[in-house]
Amino acid sequence: MAERPAVLIAGAGIAGLTMALALARHGFRARIYEREPLLREVGAGLQLSPNATRILDRLGVLDVLAPRAVRPLAVELRNAATLERVARVPLGAVAERRWGAPYLVAHRADLQAALISLVRRQRGIELVTGTAVEDAELTEDGVRARITRGWISEQADAPLLIAADGVWSRLRRTASAAAGSRFTGHLAWRTTLPRDKAGEALAVADTVTAFMHPRFHLIAYPVSGGRELNLVAFTRGEATRQAMRQDWAQEASDAPLRDAMAETALLPLIDTVPSWTVWPIHAAHPGAPWIHGDRVALIGDAAHAVPPFAAQGAAMAIEDAATLAALLARHRDNMPVALSAYQRIRKPRMAQVARRGRFNRFVWHAGGPVALARDLILRKRDETALMADFDWLYGFDAEAELDG
Ligand SMILES: Cc1cc2nc3c(=O)[nH]c(=O)nc-3n(C[C@H](O)[C@H](O)[C@H](O)COP(=O)(O)OP(=O)(O)OC[C@H]3O[C@@H](n4cnc5c(N)ncnc54)[C@H](O)[C@@H]3O)c2cc1C
Repeated sequence: MAERPAVLIAGAGIAGLTMALALARHGFRARIYEREPLLREVGAGLQLSPNATRILDRLGVLDVLAPRAVRPLAVELRNAATLERVARVPLGAVAERRWGAPYLVAHRADLQAALISLVRRQRGIELVTGTAVEDAELTEDGVRARITRGWISEQADAPLLIAADGVWSRLRRTASAAAGSRFTGHLAWRTTLPRDKAGEALAVADTVTAFMHPRFHLIAYPVSGGRELNLVAFTRGEATRQAMRQDWAQEASDAPLRDAMAETALLPLIDTVPSWTVWPIHAAHPGAPWIHGDRVALIGDAAHAVPPFAAQGAAMAIEDAATLAALLARHRDNMPVALSAYQRIRKPRMAQVARRGRFNRFVWHAGGPVALARDLILRKRDETALMADFDWLYGFDAEAELDG
């Protein structure tokens, strides 16, 4: 019997690579087109919550990633002005028992490398780099993608195209004419430091620490097997030309960050940081469709980029991939049913995560009496009650949910 044609995937980020592995697990072949000629090791750290790690485990990714990942013992919320601890949510073994999978932190490049090594070992997956998917049109029985490699332009036919081309997705336009992304007014400042060079207050032993302040928040956690500390700070920012460049690695003057941190206990601590990169936070239009003509599906940031205030963008991309692959396997000969179920199931979940991110931003950036009330309420709640707040998010099993 002739082999089924491969599903096309645009983009070899976390979404596209996980998608290919999830499809292979269900017996589908996949071809990934990645625009970049070399898969650069960009970005900094990632928190990987149990709703994502249970899927990565099933795909064999955790075994490869484990030596480079760290299992933090807790998430702590601290007041950035005084460094005082306001709340502690236990992680480690207790979190793994509660949510059925580990909470990990890792360098983004380590996750990317683990995914790529598995993709390269899978016979049913082809990874083509230096090749961009420009656009796509529906055909009678599938989709035709226009792909370019340098000056060469070609066409590729497939039963399905999965757009995993990130926050600035070109293919989003295929699904909806009015579907760009917008600058949210927030900038992310990122760096990694050798752990022993970071001040003690920043390198709080094996925790994810969120320092809260009305003008900014800063998240710190260990990566690279614990040898480095990942720092990411969020401030309001102008949509300057530099800030709008689509580049993970642009160095920037840290003056706006220093202004935001003025008169806080964190300012002297960031003197140990030699340089920061800045990343403008863009968001996708929440009302835009994620599928087009039963033959194109958007996943990851291409579908639903939001500001990362719940640290869930990569986790949602991983959940998308698991759900979509499982639905395609269930409805092998009825792609329209699989795609519309994907959109129907995933959109409410993503909306809930986006709400949680907006809530975090409000709470973490509170000032005056609101901040006092926040601290009072958080200090009163015991650790088990704080963990219970995350059951809906971290206890979620995207695949088991399809049976429920
Ligand atoms: C500061 C910051 C901190 C974050 N922290 C967390 C966290 O702790 N936990 C978490 O879960 N999430 C976090 N996120 C969110 C997370 O990084 C993203 O949601 C996730 O990386 C999205 O993955 P993706 O594969 O959808 O997109 P991307 O990683 O952007 O990948 C898209 C890929 O597509 C390629 N591409 C683009 N256009 C084309 C084309 N036309 N043809 C072919 N290829 C193309 C690109 O080169 C790229 O390789 C954070 C985000 C930021 C900005």
